[in-house]
Amino acid sequence: MNITQVATPTHEGVYRVEAAEFGLVGFIAIHSTTLGPAAGGLRMKPYGSEDEALTDALRLSEGMTYKNAAAGLPLGGGKSVIMGDPTSLKTPKLLRAFGKAVDACEGRYWTAEDMGMTPADMAEVAKETRFVAGLADGKFASGDPSPITARGIFNSIRQVARHGLGDARLKGRTVSVQGLGHVGWHLCHRLKAAGANLVVTDIDADRVKAAVTGIGAEAVSLDDIYGVEADIFAPCAIGGILNAQTIPNLNVKAVAGGANNQLATPQDAELLHGRGILYAPDYVANGGGIINAAAEILEIETRVDWVDEKLRALDDTMNNILTSAKDAGVSPAVVAQDVVAQSMTSRAA
Ligand code: NAD
Repeated sequence: MNITQVATPTHEGVYRVEAAEFGLVGFIAIHSTTLGPAAGGLRMKPYGSEDEALTDALRLSEGMTYKNAAAGLPLGGGKSVIMGDPTSLKTPKLLRAFGKAVDACEGRYWTAEDMGMTPADMAEVAKETRFVAGLADGKFASGDPSPITARGIFNSIRQVARHGLGDARLKGRTVSVQGLGHVGWHLCHRLKAAGANLVVTDIDADRVKAAVTGIGAEAVSLDDIYGVEADIFAPCAIGGILNAQTIPNLNVKAVAGGANNQLATPQDAELLHGRGILYAPDYVANGGGIINAAAEILEIETRVDWVDEKLRALDDTMNNILTSAKDAGVSPAVVAQDVVAQSMTSRAA
């Protein structure tokens, strides 16, 4: 196992992790520990290059600082990535080697599930370190965060409906959903139960088929999702999809979804605002999962009640952000940054 520090002026610590014998190359990025130990999930995907993987870790860990601050958690921002296709390259040995790297951070970084990871994978990582959340077993185990993430996103969708469409009702409204994975799937079921019409896409044809036959969703192609005429667009797959190419095509009144780093650049929030599309800042909308994991990290005895209370507070935060943005005539992304800055200044003091 080889751990080397990567110099980055924006982050407190970034580490390249390699264990060639297990095919492990990855990065652990600690953006900030101002509010507490850095916490954020582990993502495994087939990155095109090490630069791409590093950039993802840097962006995602910064987003975790904002997410944890906005959720009122005593946690900083971190994230880790492993290069490779999880369906073919993820092995117990690789996960345990990664666990050793997490342990070497000595509690400055806590990991959990992100894309490509399951509670069973976290159990492998946990054989080498105690700094793991999202486990299925154990006194404080919080399990798969996705259902709670989806709950938070559903709340945010109701908030953008309330602020952007006149009322929070979802019955009869159309929501387009990009990505039917852990989060998107749970979200679609909630939306369906609330009476929404669903238009969906995913690169996995089986998931699309299941959504069409199982919950009556309408399917569109990967590219067509951006032009779908709907009330709300819920991106629940990958980052960077709100950009100069897609935003002019959007045919919705609001965007609220679970994917991290939806905006390709901060200016894209202005593009959305200029088009009159209400944007629910992603790191506020998708904070449910880390709230769930935080209960495990912080060893909360009354986990269910605590998570419920934090989710309600997050919903209030989104409501306040959308209200203030409307009053000030600015993008909610701008107000969300102010909320984070205030939270970090007041709580770090
Ligand atoms: P997942 O891997 O389970 O699901 C992602 C889905 O998106 C898959 O079905 C995949 O086939 C699909 N997909 C990938 N690229 C696509 C594309 N270009 N177009 C359409 N579909 C595509 O991941 P997840 O856990 O559901 O997470 C989804 C997003 O939400 C990610 O950005 C993740 O970082 C973010 N997020 C997840 C959680 C959580 O609790 N799981 C918490 C916060 C944020």
